[in-house]
Amino acid sequence: MNEAREQIEFDVLFVGGGPASLAGAIHLMQLAKQNELDIDVALIEKGADIGSHALSGAVLNPIALKELIPDYRGAGCPIETDVRGDEFHFLTETGHYSLPFVPKYVRNKGFHIISQCRFVQWLATIAEDLGVNTFPGFAGKEVLFNSNGKKIIGIRTGDKGLDKDGKPKANFEPGVDILAKVTVLGEGAKGSLLREISKKLNIFSGKKPQVFEAGIKEAIQLPEKNYFSDSSGNDIHTLGYPLGLGTHGGGFIYEMGDNRVALGLIVTLGYQGPMLDLYEEFMRFKRHPFVRGITSGGRVIEQGARVIGSGGFYTIPKLAVDGAVFVGAGASMLNVPGLKGIHTSMKSGMLAAEAILEAFSKGSFTEQALAPYHDRLEASWLKKELYVGRNFPQAVSKKGLTKLFMLGVEYLTGGCILFNKMALEEDSKTMSPLKDGDLEASEKRYLRQDYDGVLLVDKLTGVYLSKTQHREDQPCHLIVHDVDLCVNECFKTYQCPCTRFCPGNVYEIEIDDNTQEKRLKLNPSNCLHCKTCEIKDPYNNITWTCPEGGDGPRYTVM
Ligand code: SF4
Repeated sequence: MNEAREQIEFDVLFVGGGPASLAGAIHLMQLAKQNELDIDVALIEKGADIGSHALSGAVLNPIALKELIPDYRGAGCPIETDVRGDEFHFLTETGHYSLPFVPKYVRNKGFHIISQCRFVQWLATIAEDLGVNTFPGFAGKEVLFNSNGKKIIGIRTGDKGLDKDGKPKANFEPGVDILAKVTVLGEGAKGSLLREISKKLNIFSGKKPQVFEAGIKEAIQLPEKNYFSDSSGNDIHTLGYPLGLGTHGGGFIYEMGDNRVALGLIVTLGYQGPMLDLYEEFMRFKRHPFVRGITSGGRVIEQGARVIGSGGFYTIPKLAVDGAVFVGAGASMLNVPGLKGIHTSMKSGMLAAEAILEAFSKGSFTEQALAPYHDRLEASWLKKELYVGRNFPQAVSKKGLTKLFMLGVEYLTGGCILFNKMALEEDSKTMSPLKDGDLEASEKRYLRQDYDGVLLVDKLTGVYLSKTQHREDQPCHLIVHDVDLCVNECFKTYQCPCTRFCPGNVYEIEIDDNTQEKRLKLNPSNCLHCKTCEIKDPYNNITWTCPEGGDGPRYTVM
């Protein structure tokens, strides 16, 4: 079948239509034009359109954008609102305390609140005007290596038109081999291609384990007269309820344009409790009187979920190999304490573009020729910003007062804590086995009964509001390696936590009334592509792979 595949060649291929790839592609074209270099650049994106899979809070620090497009407002950058003021609240079960100061990491006054979907759509139009060939609806399925398996030479896109058993249907379209002198991997957090590269080229060797947070977000349409009409603060962060001090995470509430609010809950995936239900924690957050006071009279218009790579500085992989560089969230370019990754991802793409241009001037695309990407990172504001948060993930992985102490020291010492490079544990290893009383406590904790379908929606309505679609008759893109392990060992030890950490209700355990036999039922069409299951499964029993290009969420305002 390989021989029948079409091959297309470009000079540079960007994989992923997020801020890192798009800023990189734009900057590369700008530099090529300045240097009168003719260069063929392509960008593929697995979502149906650029922006379909884009989801972020999102507060944009415009530092990288100003470097890339100095008159970005004049160029039509879609800004929802400017941050007028920051608020930081500690939520108790029924009340809230405004903290007397806002931690410096989340002081965002003057920054912009954006919809990441709209932002990347706008960046894509600029990239296309500069000559970048964008191909939405094409999922990178496989990394292409040269004959000795050491050099990346491009990407194979996924086949379309396979049936459930992987057999070609009448409308079968084989994937295409897109070859490039340089491939720029900007897939986002927990990219499936980066996973394969890591296995082969060991790019994370010597680094701390990758750790993640999961976020569920909604856009809510508010009535005309709303909380923000009289409020000076429109960038709100919360700690405390519903998670408490044992599980790290917090809420965000940002004012958008057109009387809308972006609201979400982020939970660190290093949590312990096997009964924790990410979606229901988000519902508890939304039921809190403080949050209700803001969303009152509102209607959910879109919902989505995704993971955030929160390992920070000590999890940055080797950035260049023969024929490829790694940018954005997949390469841990996130300001973790500042909860911001768009500007850092953009800058990583721009620095990679500068190194790629240098490689073209040398006519060589080896690891050594692309190494200036790393050197440029070292000399940039990006390195300084990432370095300050280098021990933040380690501090939040602690519990209770130890966590508060370490966060305090980390804050005061500029990121040092007691010593550098503290240990981190993989998220799949932190879950505790089920204890007596956990099931009863979970029943009490999660109401699951007051959904009104308007402001409080259940999981399946949430999937509907993400506009997620997958062609039903295709191979299941979620590989559960050992189903017996799920229904026997995992059920007994953890009560199948996939049924609770998946925000799309993809995993269900069915129990036969007569025989009590258990069966794992998968609903892959509900998948929001958040990747939580691959990260948090305590047995590493799930692998997420790309379904057909164009499938998945179709976000418009996330
Ligand atoms: Fe997320 Fe996995 Fe559920 Fe898909 S199946 S929504 S990737 S947790």
